[in-house]
Amino acid sequence: LVKVEGVHKFFGEHHVLKGIDMTVAPGEVSVIIGPSGSGKSTLLRCINVLETISAGRIYVHDSLIGYREVNGKLHDLSTKHIAAQRREIGMVFQRFNLFPHKTALQNVIEAPTQVKRQSKAAAKLKALELLEMVGLSDRADFYPAQLSGGQQQRVAIARALAMEPELMLFDEPTSALDPELVGDVLEVMKDLAKSGMTMIVVTHEIGFAREVGDTLTFMDAGVVVESGNPREIIANPQHARTKEFLSRVL
Ligand code: ATP
Ligand code: MG
Repeated sequence: LVKVEGVHKFFGEHHVLKGIDMTVAPGEVSVIIGPSGSGKSTLLRCINVLETISAGRIYVHDSLIGYREVNGKLHDLSTKHIAAQRREIGMVFQRFNLFPHKTALQNVIEAPTQVKRQSKAAAKLKALELLEMVGLSDRADFYPAQLSGGQQQRVAIARALAMEPELMLFDEPTSALDPELVGDVLEVMKDLAKSGMTMIVVTHEIGFAREVGDTLTFMDAGVVVESGNPREIIANPQHARTKEFLSRVL
């Protein structure tokens, strides 16, 4: 479903992604770990068309992300087409950035009604289903400030799912949470994985990677150092840098 080929990203002189290759099959849960500054968020942002790439190609469902290719040459996509591509991809950030003046339910129906022009009634029905799925049916009319961080993050997941994305990206979704709230969010992500959603998850939760991940990728300094079966990598990392990183987070 996702194919990343030779992707480079520069911020000015700063070479942040140095030839990333990665594939994610439909229904696969791909977990990315790596030290701060290794380029994990940048990679997700490139996949989600929030950043342009400096070289390489990214495909989601066989369509080239961010560009259109004519006779081997890349042309920028119009903002309209970029918006359409972004709509197919859900993203959940470390900070839950819900609309503070809207209730949980209003947050979830915002994009379907505004962007997809769904009727309010239909969007509401779907939103209530999603809030139930993330364990928050009784919090639909609460404002973000009245919810715990973990509850807000689960609303953020429901909000992303409301657009019916074919791919979900998670950028350290639990790292801003108090430890006792992490489990509920991981549980929701695990259910989502079981339902067959294709997911790319940047996280330091090694237990989640081992239990839920189909693939584990270790990134350092803008390159993929190693990638493979999570259990094998965690039990028996092949590279010194992976070993060293795992010894710090385990
Ligand atoms: P963390 O674990 O801390 O979230 P990360 O692996 O997600 O780290 P990135 O956020 O992708 O790392 O950043 C990779 C590098 O790119 C960093 O050195 C960062 O300073 C740089 N960078 C990221 N975004 C920008 C930007 N918009 N402009 C300039 N430099 C940037
Ligand atoms: Mg990051």
